[in-house]
Amino acid sequence: MATIVNAEAFLVDLEVETVRTDAVQSFVKQETIFVEVTCDDGLTGLGYSYTIGTGGRAVLSLLREHLIGRLIGRDSRLVEAAWQDLFAATRATSVGAITSLALAAVDTALWDLRAKRAGEPLWMLAGGHRERVPLYDTEGGWLHLSTGELVTGAVAARDAGWPGVKLKVGKPRAHHDLERLLAVRQAVGADLDIMVDANQSMTAAEAIRRAALYEQAGVFWFEEPLPADDVAGHLRLARSTSIPVAVGESMYSPAQFRDYLQRGAASIVQVDVARVGGITPWLKVAHLAETFNVMVCPHFLMELHVSLVAAIPNGMYVEHIPQLRAITLQEMRIEEGHAVAPDVPGLGIAWDRDAMDIRRVA
Ligand SMILES: [Mg+2]
Repeated sequence: MATIVNAEAFLVDLEVETVRTDAVQSFVKQETIFVEVTCDDGLTGLGYSYTIGTGGRAVLSLLREHLIGRLIGRDSRLVEAAWQDLFAATRATSVGAITSLALAAVDTALWDLRAKRAGEPLWMLAGGHRERVPLYDTEGGWLHLSTGELVTGAVAARDAGWPGVKLKVGKPRAHHDLERLLAVRQAVGADLDIMVDANQSMTAAEAIRRAALYEQAGVFWFEEPLPADDVAGHLRLARSTSIPVAVGESMYSPAQFRDYLQRGAASIVQVDVARVGGITPWLKVAHLAETFNVMVCPHFLMELHVSLVAAIPNGMYVEHIPQLRAITLQEMRIEEGHAVAPDVPGLGIAWDRDAMDIRRVA
C-alpha cells in the first residue's frame, strides 16, 4: 500500500549565501517551507517551497491549518488527485502566491515519494530527456556590484566553460546599464550569452527605450522588464525589440503562462516550481510552452530545477544561485558548464537533517 499516515510541515530559515540585490529588492533570507509525508509502508517524501524573506509563516500556517491534514489516508500515488483536492480546498485564497507556495511544498513531497517508490530519479520519471543541462550564472551579476566586479565574474564564468551569465539592470540612468553591459561584452567576446533582468521595475515605455540600448550588447534575453500582470506591455515591448522577452518567476498558475504565450508576449518561460504550485503544474507549463515552440529556463531553485529541465525537450538553461549549501550534504554536480541531474531515486537532494533542525524556526 501507499497510504499516507503522517504529514508534517515546518519552516527553516537560511541566511543568504551572498548579498543579492536587484532593481527593486534584496534577498533577505530564504524562508524554506518543508512538507514531509510518511506512508504506511514506511516510505517518506520530503518536499519544499520558499520565499526570499516574507510570508513563510503564512505559507506554513495555511499548510498546518488547512492542507496537510487532508493528506492523511490518501493514496500517495494519486498525485494529481491530491493537487486538485487541495487546490479545491483553497478556493478562497486561489490563485495566490501563498497558496501556490503551500501547494508546491506538498506536491514536491509527493513527487519525491513517487520517484522513490518507482526507484527512479526525478528527471527520468518526469520525462527523461537528457541528464546534463546548460547552466548560466546569476551570482556574479547583482545590481550593487561594480562594473569591474561584473567583468571579473563574467570572465570567470566564461573561462570555466559556462555558456551564459545574467546581469541585473535598472540603474537610475539607462546609460549606466549600457556601460556595464558593454564592459562585460567587450571582456567576454561574442561567445557568451548575456541575459539581463529588471525584476519588474520598468514601465513599458522605459523598457522599450532601454531595450533599444541593450541591443548594442547582444543581449540574450530581457527578463521581467515590467510588472508580471502587464501582459499588454510585454507584448508592446516584444514587438519593439529583437531581444527575447523572458517572464515567469512571478506567476502563480499555468493559465497566466497561457495568456502570455497565446498573445506572443513572452519568448522564454521561467516557470518556478515553488511559485507555480509544484512539479505537477510546472510540467503542464513546460509542455504548454513546447507547443508554442518556446524554451523553458526556470527561476532559481537549481537543485530541483536541474531535474525538471533535464526531463523536458524544451529546457534550455538552469540558473546558478546556490542557496542550499547550509542544509545539504552534497552540492549539485556541475561539469563543463552543465548541471547534472541527480541519478538517485526521488528529488535527489541530499538533505542534512541535523543542519535543518538547527535552523528550524517553526
Ligand atoms: Mg529574475
